[in-house]
Amino acid sequence: MAMKKHLINFSAKIQSDDFEKTYPLDYCIPVYHAVSNFHLPHLKHIINYKSEKEFEKDLEILSQNFQFLNWNEFKDFRNGNFKPKKKIALLTFDDGLSEFHDVVVPILERKGIYAINFINPKFIDNKDLMYRCKASLLIERILQSDKKPLNVFDDIIGNDKLKKLFIRKIHGMTYSEPERLDGLAKHFRENFNDFLVKYKPYMTLEQLKAVTKKGFGISNHGFDHPLYHELNLEEQILNTTQSYDYLNENDFITESFAFPFTDFGVKQEFFEKIFSTNDLFCSFGSAGLKRDSFDKNLQRIPMEKGKDANQILKEEIAYFNLKKLLNKNTIYRK
Ligand SMILES: [Zn+2]
Repeated sequence: MAMKKHLINFSAKIQSDDFEKTYPLDYCIPVYHAVSNFHLPHLKHIINYKSEKEFEKDLEILSQNFQFLNWNEFKDFRNGNFKPKKKIALLTFDDGLSEFHDVVVPILERKGIYAINFINPKFIDNKDLMYRCKASLLIERILQSDKKPLNVFDDIIGNDKLKKLFIRKIHGMTYSEPERLDGLAKHFRENFNDFLVKYKPYMTLEQLKAVTKKGFGISNHGFDHPLYHELNLEEQILNTTQSYDYLNENDFITESFAFPFTDFGVKQEFFEKIFSTNDLFCSFGSAGLKRDSFDKNLQRIPMEKGKDANQILKEEIAYFNLKKLLNKNTIYRK
């Protein structure tokens, strides 16, 4: 792993930033979650989101090198009916967070850039909180607390070590065991419902409709943000169609689906099934700059890595080219 990082860093350094020439695919699909100048305790420990200034800088870099398309133009482009002036970009956001409505949309409106947001219907209207956000809130509690998390063991293990251990355990909790996070919350006097009422971390249905009216897209990210490879095929289909039905009822975009977390380990069978039953045009992963053996599944580039777009693109291109030498820049599905 250290060797891999070293190689990427080295070859990124010698990468030109003339992305029009060096960018290897004909599309660039960045993915973000939130943009905020504030400390957001439910995101801070799971997502390295950017400030407004950092986000605007990314947009500047991307605009110089790519032509941003809206959803219909993007479909036309994929169908060969749209001839862009530059390589194209489709701006995407995940999770339907309220910062999209409050912060991102005003910036994008000013710049005339389209984005599509992939949402989980279970959390819309702040009915529940995604389990990783719960984990982030608990970690915030632990870090902020002067009190020893577990007095009995403190003398033996030490307070700092104990905090680190707790944080590692919380990061390890999975989608299939939500009751563990809810149980822990009581010990840390954290109340997720109070948080939902007070902070309203997600967009409401009304806000989703408002951003749609302004020309932005809302689409499918699964019903409640599961890790797909932890589900069996039937559960995967159910989670996807439950979300599809919600989007359909509310006239949002049902033609796309972005995997929550990762499409890693998702089998060919799932793709064949969802593409045969719905009006699905394409799906999205977030494995970075990569090809996919299922050609309607497009990989996006995660932009929340504590680096600017210029550096991220350079590293992605460097890594893509390194893997090309090893014939490993395509994800194969079985
Ligand atoms: Zn997500």
